[in-house]
Amino acid sequence: DDTEKDPDLMHIIHATAEMAPIAKVGGLGDVVTGLARACLLRGHKVDIMLPFYECIQKQQINGLELMTTYNSYHDGQWVPTNAYRGVVSGIPLILIEPSNHFFKGPAVYGGCYNELEAYLFFSRACLEWMQVTGTEPDIIHVHEWQTGALPLLYWDMYQCLSIKKPRLLLTVHNMEHYGECSKDQLSKCGLDGSLYATIDKAVDDRTIGHNPERLSLLKGGIVYSNAVVTVSPTYLKETLCSGWLASTLIRNRDKYHGILNGVDTAMWNPATDVFLPAKFHAENIEGKRICKHYVQRGLGLAPNGSLVGSCLSNDTNRVPLVICITRLVAQKGLHLISHAIKHIEELGGQMVILGKASDSRVEREFESLTNLHNQGTSVRILLTYSEELSHMLYAAADMVLVPSIYEPCGLSQMIGMRYGAVPIVRKTGGLADTIFDIDDQSNQDMANGFIFEGIDEGSLNGALNRAFHHYKEEPDRWNTIVRKLLKIDNSWNNTAGKYISVYNSIRVR
Ligand code: ADP
Repeated sequence: DDTEKDPDLMHIIHATAEMAPIAKVGGLGDVVTGLARACLLRGHKVDIMLPFYECIQKQQINGLELMTTYNSYHDGQWVPTNAYRGVVSGIPLILIEPSNHFFKGPAVYGGCYNELEAYLFFSRACLEWMQVTGTEPDIIHVHEWQTGALPLLYWDMYQCLSIKKPRLLLTVHNMEHYGECSKDQLSKCGLDGSLYATIDKAVDDRTIGHNPERLSLLKGGIVYSNAVVTVSPTYLKETLCSGWLASTLIRNRDKYHGILNGVDTAMWNPATDVFLPAKFHAENIEGKRICKHYVQRGLGLAPNGSLVGSCLSNDTNRVPLVICITRLVAQKGLHLISHAIKHIEELGGQMVILGKASDSRVEREFESLTNLHNQGTSVRILLTYSEELSHMLYAAADMVLVPSIYEPCGLSQMIGMRYGAVPIVRKTGGLADTIFDIDDQSNQDMANGFIFEGIDEGSLNGALNRAFHHYKEEPDRWNTIVRKLLKIDNSWNNTAGKYISVYNSIRVR
């Protein structure tokens, strides 16, 4: 590879609950894999520590082998634990497998074990493994509340034992996932939970009178890490201005950074993507038309135009295909997603939703929409998780809808652009940092999508109407935009350097 190597090389270990593609639920998995790959290409040594979930398909791991058997503490017991080594998508992994029931079950999250306790165990087991094997990375990079206790364990326990060198960076992908925890639960990892029950440590700021029974692992992680990163500059500002962690973040402003996520361009590349029936790139977008036709046929949507001809604008009855690929949770703007189905049908477009709900009420709501719409030829609602289908849909789509109420960074608008789908997004968080309106005459250089601001249906309609108008009335301009999107570089090459600078600013030489 021709990536330039960094002058000052380090060893970085990620401790994370997700890693794409073997244990991915949302953007966290993509970010860990993409950032790790970018740092490896720059010459750094990188390992990812991940719970060995029972649901991980072992055949996806290259060179899987048992490396260390050791004991790690949980709730008064030393639990025999295996550490395996392997490689996924070119990235070295260390998989932690306790001999108890933790991480057993059919999915990454939601197994029949106490999730909070399992991740407290995992946080300590990562450090315990480093101690047992004498591994001292320069940086331990933790993510979200799941590994938020690791910095506490490091500074208050393992530094007093034998690990001295690492410094800690926490990336917060979503401030609303706060890892609520009681003193007693925290004590299960071997710390004295009551020592953290103060407002300057881990007590959740929201509770009246600052209830010392209610701690947040995310807050503890913020206080105890050397640096904290969140996933876009706008989300950084939003979280300093409002939200339950604002005062904590203001107190820690000097070590708090906003770094936009990148796209893992090895995983997401329409010119080489093995999931696609036809490949394409900026110089030749014919393959995108084939992908659209393939998806329409496969899902029983009305086919539009013929496959003959080399340019999209040759089609006479072009029907725009809009996709929305998301976890179906309130944050993502559920009422706007269900409204979009109706409005897109009225406008004569097609829509495919690929979404998984974790809440049974939301699932039922979308099941009834499915029953209502899936009989026709313009809407498909697929209530499942499928990596393969997501690749095909991004490739087939003319537009990708991201109507989030809040969105720390958002990957699906960036992946959409990488596959030539024009984003239609609400102006919030990372969406505001990555998408610039095509109708904004003052910023045509950056223009790459359609933006709306309100959380009401009328605001969304406005953006959809404008997008459909452009698509139908100005097909040549539309194709120019698609080619422009295919050339935009939102890769980690651009943004990993910012992480490296933060790593460098905290490491011990
Ligand atoms: P979040 O991290 O909040 O889930 P992001 O937009 O940052 O949101 O990342 C979402 C990632 O998960 C994208 O890669 C998207 O394609 C993927 N994804 C979400 N839902 C599904 C699904 N049902 N099937 C396949 N991929 C999905």
